[in-house]
Amino acid sequence: MKFDVCIIGSGAGGALAAYGLQNTLGNIAIIEKGDWAKRNQDPLFSLQHYYRDQGFIGGLGKGFIGIPTGEVVGGTTTINSGTCFETPESVIQEWKDQLHISIERSELEPHFETLKTLLSIHPVPEEKISIGNKLFRNGVEALGFTSPSPLNRDEKNCDGSGRCPFVCPNEAKQSTDVAILPLFLKKGGTLLTQTTVTHIQEEKNKVLLFCKDAQKKSLTVECKKLIISAGSLSTPILIRKNKLGTEWKKAGNGLTVHPAVKVLAQFKNPLYSSKGVPQAIGFKHPSFPYLSFEGVFTPPQLASLVLPLDGKSLDDWLLQYDHVASFGVLVKDRGRGTVRHYPGLGLFIHYPLHPKDFLDLVEGARFIGLAYLKAGAQKVVLPFSGSQNEFLDFNDLKEYDFGSLKPSQLYAMGFHPLGSCGIKRVVDENLKVYGSDRIFIADGSVVPSSLGVNPQITIMAFALRLANYLKRQLKSSDSDIRES
Ligand SMILES: Cc1cc2nc3c(=O)[nH]c(=O)nc-3n(C[C@H](O)[C@H](O)[C@H](O)COP(=O)(O)OP(=O)(O)OC[C@H]3O[C@@H](n4cnc5c(N)ncnc54)[C@H](O)[C@@H]3O)c2cc1C
Ligand code: SF4
Repeated sequence: MKFDVCIIGSGAGGALAAYGLQNTLGNIAIIEKGDWAKRNQDPLFSLQHYYRDQGFIGGLGKGFIGIPTGEVVGGTTTINSGTCFETPESVIQEWKDQLHISIERSELEPHFETLKTLLSIHPVPEEKISIGNKLFRNGVEALGFTSPSPLNRDEKNCDGSGRCPFVCPNEAKQSTDVAILPLFLKKGGTLLTQTTVTHIQEEKNKVLLFCKDAQKKSLTVECKKLIISAGSLSTPILIRKNKLGTEWKKAGNGLTVHPAVKVLAQFKNPLYSSKGVPQAIGFKHPSFPYLSFEGVFTPPQLASLVLPLDGKSLDDWLLQYDHVASFGVLVKDRGRGTVRHYPGLGLFIHYPLHPKDFLDLVEGARFIGLAYLKAGAQKVVLPFSGSQNEFLDFNDLKEYDFGSLKPSQLYAMGFHPLGSCGIKRVVDENLKVYGSDRIFIADGSVVPSSLGVNPQITIMAFALRLANYLKRQLKSSDSDIRES
């Protein structure tokens, strides 16, 4: 099989790169390891089938941080919460000042506008906000802070079924399998599903991709240009394994994950928190600029995985789960990790939580607990094991000394792996792999540093920007894509 452009991965980066290139470069193939998602399945089914390694993948450092990603058509967008943030101005300035990266906000702005329309991005309407989010808002207001505001999300006709991270049952969430890939296919694009790229070979006039299909049969695909969009955990492994470009040894360094924790609160009356949008509102605390608070809710089938309890306490929370609300907080990480692949061991992620990130998360969790107690919760449980973690009284929690707590006691997750092939380290500002003529990267791995906000829109805008760059190249005389 021969194509002008091949793209590995159909998630935020891959699908949008394909969308941006289509019409100009007709002969494009996306190669995707996962299959199309079945809708209306139990959350456990989605976890088992559409999360890489059933979601049990994470970074080891001073503790363990789960780092889930999607392995399905649409990539992680198919199992994400749909929250949309443009790249913060302050982060773009940080890239300029600290990393000498000259990407301007004005370059990304037209892409943000395109995405707003394409993905139907708008704030969550009041009637769709879940009760758990509203109770947190009540508590924050009662504590005297500015009211948390509705988040922007990519959805059309969302009925608030509360299942976003387990595949939206009715295609309301505008993940790339819903909003982008059907358009790509309609216009003649090729999508090879259940096909894994195992080796990549760059030659003078072409790139060869060695793949395995669903039946483990070998397949070779040839292209003029390759865009790797396999995500922050897989792209660096492909770069290292195949020694692509001149800086391949740096691939896998610089990983950020936005470490995050959640707090659960039990109320007297049933809340049925799984109804409504689980990630509906967001809050910035004036004293903790690195923290971003966002709604979250774990379905009952998976609740025991997120409760740092056992025995009778665990029983009590599980029996009362209809009465439970929850809220989360992520940190713009100061820490950095590495992604490697070792023979016999497989993927290995080292992620030591930075001491300041740890302290911020502890205080973030305390704040959520206080907000819920202020809003009338009977008790809250904080994400710490081997320490007091259940609190019934506002002042007890306010005064409690968490000074002896260690990072290994934190129940943390990192939902946003980024930066493992960062701009100016593995790729240049046009996302071309240093030292390669034909290979580009468009996914979370190129994001130069921790964003502090949910990343899909930044990744998508970068992918559209890359598509524009390649289209400009096509017009110039040195492009060979037109030869095919
Ligand atoms: C539970 C959860 C909730 C989230 N919520 C939000 C949110 O609300 N808002 C937000 O902005 N972000 C959210 N995110 C993160 C966001 O969805 C991801 O950062 C984004 O989708 C990453 O895009 P990507 O292109 O880097 O990779 P992905 O979207 O992960 O796509 C990579 C694709 O490459 C495929 N692939 C990998 N290796 C190969 C190979 N060798 N051959 C073929 N195919 C391969 C994978 O199967 C996958 O489909 C969430 C993440 C999680 C886990
Ligand atoms: S709340 Fe339900 S309908 Fe709305 S986007 Fe999430 S899963 Fe889809």
